[in-house]
Amino acid sequence: MEPGLSLIKQHLTTLNIPAAAGILDELLLEAQKKDLTCQEFLYQLVAHEVNTREKRRLEKQLKWAAFPEYKTLETFDVREQRSLSQKQLNQLKELHWLEQAYNLLLLGPPGVGKSHLATGLGIEAVRRGYKVHFTGMEELVGLLKTQVITRSSRTRIKRLTTSDLVIIDDLMFMAIDRQEANLFFQLINKLYGQTSLIITSNKGPEEWGEILGDPAITTAILDRILHKSEVLALTGESYRLKHRQTIFGPSQPDILKTHKE
Ligand code: ADP
Ligand code: MG
Repeated sequence: MEPGLSLIKQHLTTLNIPAAAGILDELLLEAQKKDLTCQEFLYQLVAHEVNTREKRRLEKQLKWAAFPEYKTLETFDVREQRSLSQKQLNQLKELHWLEQAYNLLLLGPPGVGKSHLATGLGIEAVRRGYKVHFTGMEELVGLLKTQVITRSSRTRIKRLTTSDLVIIDDLMFMAIDRQEANLFFQLINKLYGQTSLIITSNKGPEEWGEILGDPAITTAILDRILHKSEVLALTGESYRLKHRQTIFGPSQPDILKTHKE
């Protein structure tokens, strides 16, 4: 006697294969209609489970990573960024630097695509199964200062320290005091050697000392960040400014020029 469909589904669920159980009816009908072989049918059933799991994993890891925006490398137009070639971008996308625990420093003025590139590389890393966590420098300092008293800060710091890749956006954007610099150093020290960093900043490392205020701590931080690192200096006009929407049509006078007059 042929086993009942409900029993098969029950077994699939017991074996922790719920997506396959969910699609079984539909797939059986399709198999009959299209005259699929047993092997084809079985493949489709198993592939559905695998794809569903992968999709869930991706969603979960993207949430965990806390990217402020979903900006991928596919939407990063390399022709807009003269200091980066398509070949270099492809190399970055391969993520060998991440495998070898290299850090990336993305430097350049506002609007040239530092955060977009950092997020795009982060999303690529998540797709390849790496654990990634994104934070802004200002937010990070807040987390470091409140970790002793706030559980949610401790959770975020834990995520940072258990990631394969940590993205720190807008480093040294604001001046931080000696105690904060110390906490930051402790974090960098903990991550050093086991986690890759992507750091974006509109100031070069030579200027970080000034903003940190303490040359000794700055040197110690720089030492660890720059030891195994690749620096990418992005240049050009702000993408936002270049592609901004204006209230006048293209034939109308430029709003900025009008402003200057
Ligand atoms: P930055 O972090 O350097 O200040 P962002 O990464 O925030 O700059 O970029 C500003 C805006 O311009 C974002 O919306 C970003 O998606 C877009 N942008 C910048 N560079 C590019 C590019 N090369 N291709 C596509 N979009 C870009
Ligand atoms: Mg930015």
